[in-house]
Amino acid sequence: MICEMCGKEAVTRLMIVEGTKLNLCQDCSKFGDEYKSLVGGQPASKGGAPVANRSVIEARLQKRERRMQTRDVYAGATTTELAEDYGRIVREAREAKGMDLEEFGKSILEKKGVLAKVEANDLVPDDKLIAKLEKALGIKLREQVQACGHIGSGGKAAAPTLADFIKKK
Ligand SMILES: [Zn+2]
Repeated sequence: MICEMCGKEAVTRLMIVEGTKLNLCQDCSKFGDEYKSLVGGQPASKGGAPVANRSVIEARLQKRERRMQTRDVYAGATTTELAEDYGRIVREAREAKGMDLEEFGKSILEKKGVLAKVEANDLVPDDKLIAKLEKALGIKLREQVQACGHIGSGGKAAAPTLADFIKKK
């Protein structure tokens, strides 16, 4: 056979040179790897490797994308919302501590008028004020709300329990 590298008529062997199969003479075969050794259990030839890698990378990306989407769904499942009857909660907690609006306002450095409006549900307190009220009164003004269905002020719109199910039967 003719050596595909130097063109010499000689006994050639099938060799791999930079991923290409070539019939090479004895002299030129030192430039390549023996074809047989690559076929037998060795990693795939250079030609096939990038394709395999790409699909692996693609699979990983898809998996990661799916994971991120899942996380987004969970993040949106519940939101923290101010309790609908926040004013009543604040007033009752304040009264339980035996403070009038003036005393309470002084204790948390807020204006009496602002607190009166909050207690009347006329003013939605900002996050800072909510945190202050919760801390000062030992109450929770925020509640976890399912994004897909609004839970009423009673908070009893949760999924039916097994007991409810049995009772209905
Ligand atoms: Zn040659």
